[in-house]
Amino acid sequence: MISRYLTSFDPSRIRQLKYDYVILGSGIAGLWCALEAMGHGSVAIVTKGPRDEGSTKYAQGGIAAALCPQDSPALHLQDTMDAGAGLCNREAVSVLVTEGPQRVKQLVRRGAEFDQENGQLVLAREGAHGIRRIVRAQGDQTGREVERALIAEIQKSRVDVHEKMFGVDLLTQRDECVGVLGWSVPKGEFVLFRGEVTIIASGGAGQLFDVTTNPTVVTGDGAAMAFRAGAQLQDLEFMQFHPTALASVDESSGDSVSPKFLISEAVRGEGAQLLNLHGERFMPHYHPLAELAPRDVVSKSILEEMHKTHTKHVLLDLTAHSREAIQHRFPTIFRTCEEQGIDPSAQPIPVSPAAHYTMGGVKTGLNGETNIRRLYACGEAACTGVHGANRLASNSLLEGMVFGSRAVTAARRMVDRQQPVAPDLSAIFVPTCPRGREGKPPERLRKELQTVMWRQVGLLRSDEALQDAVTRIDMIQAETARLPEGPKAWELTNMAQLARLVALSALLRTESRGAHRRSDYPEPDNRRWRKHIVLTRRLIDNLQIDAEPDILVEDVK
Ligand SMILES: Cc1cc2nc3c(=O)[nH]c(=O)nc-3n(C[C@H](O)[C@H](O)[C@H](O)COP(=O)(O)OP(=O)(O)OC[C@H]3O[C@@H](n4cnc5c(N)ncnc54)[C@H](O)[C@@H]3O)c2cc1C
Repeated sequence: MISRYLTSFDPSRIRQLKYDYVILGSGIAGLWCALEAMGHGSVAIVTKGPRDEGSTKYAQGGIAAALCPQDSPALHLQDTMDAGAGLCNREAVSVLVTEGPQRVKQLVRRGAEFDQENGQLVLAREGAHGIRRIVRAQGDQTGREVERALIAEIQKSRVDVHEKMFGVDLLTQRDECVGVLGWSVPKGEFVLFRGEVTIIASGGAGQLFDVTTNPTVVTGDGAAMAFRAGAQLQDLEFMQFHPTALASVDESSGDSVSPKFLISEAVRGEGAQLLNLHGERFMPHYHPLAELAPRDVVSKSILEEMHKTHTKHVLLDLTAHSREAIQHRFPTIFRTCEEQGIDPSAQPIPVSPAAHYTMGGVKTGLNGETNIRRLYACGEAACTGVHGANRLASNSLLEGMVFGSRAVTAARRMVDRQQPVAPDLSAIFVPTCPRGREGKPPERLRKELQTVMWRQVGLLRSDEALQDAVTRIDMIQAETARLPEGPKAWELTNMAQLARLVALSALLRTESRGAHRRSDYPEPDNRRWRKHIVLTRRLIDNLQIDAEPDILVEDVK
């Protein structure tokens, strides 16, 4: 049994702020929504760290869109569908690739400066793209440039950005969302953000895993709080493992460094080859596209090579390029390798897979709408169905903009049509639930959870490992309930609740497809499993949720 709300609170005693649009998160999806919504009402961004912290800032490769005459939305659609291993929602992909080019141009108008040659955008190639179609900034700093440009626009606007404000829970009443309960970390107090519309743009959940490229704030809070509020979650078993994270180790502890630094797929797009520890190139044996095969195929092949050679990494060889060329094309990668004592022009880079992108999330329609009125989701927190079982590289920044715009358009229409929301906040009063005051330190529990997820719900899964993972996660959840109140305990509770749902979904899907691989069911099973797994809470009373969710298995659209 889990509680509907993470904490006990009395809304009548909490400071309230009223807005038309309350947006959770300040990555590309949240910032984009805020810029689209401003001018149509008051807008607040609630974000748990500094405003630029999230996966967006770390994106390297770029943004995919059909921008050159040789390319077309139809070609982009085909590549996306092929990578998605039979689970993409065709209509959603069509929206993504058709509206994508306009959004990239809009991003440029909003101030993002992408690399150009002779006045034309430079287009790069990445894995599973049939053509060069990825725009990038300063070589490998696309995300940083996107955040910079969008934050600069926000700073000129009247959008209120509430930093270091941990979104604790969505407030719901009579099946509609009426806002977000926040916790101001610096002030140590609750704040109630009442919204005509609430948009979840809180990113993915890579931090559920011990080895990940995702920054520490990316813990799946949005999906967990949406689940508690009754929203549907879809495709949770599909976590993308990026094939090439830098295989670095913390010298003092001997532990793997977390988060892992990414060696962008664009490096393989520029011709880098993967070698095993014997120096043999192996990808041509696994897929006709070799190093440019879809990510799931490359990760799986690397895993097999690591297994065969009894090592924890393989090698990415970029030595065919000069030092100057690498430094110019991939300045951040070059610098980070050098800091690790690796000269990528002289020696191959040690790499291994890491949890990278959450394909599943809060189930939405084509306009970001969820099954809860006044609640929308977009960006990595959402599951629009565009990525299917395996995301095509550089489609996610694009998704944040395309579906962010659509969510705000739909929300505006809804606000225009409906009476203003008038919640009876006294009815939301949540009585004190006893919490412990001690237990294992939250950092230790977090590490335990991440280790279970990485080892047992990671790249290769089995019935036995998944069953055991669920038991262990239950134990961690019980320990978490004993922690004193506060953001660390709430965050960990979100992680454990979501981790359990990921493991349950993975257990249910008795096949291998895209990013989900089962040693006991090594092949895809189209007859039974060309379907989505959709989870919702089972409400016991108004304040308790059964740990076992309701499960729907839906056909692919
Ligand atoms: C290393 C790396 C490289 C990548 N490279 C690319 C690439 O080249 N191209 C591409 O398309 N994609 C890339 N991706 C993926 C892409 O960056 C993400 O999918 C995308 O940035 C997600 O944007 P978002 O706005 O949905 O979430 P994020 O950018 O992750 O932002 C989430 C926001 O939500 C906030 N938040 C979370 N929980 C709470 C809470 N409880 N309360 C308040 N706020 C909260 C966070 O603080 C943050 O502001 C990469 C990802 C990584 C990690």
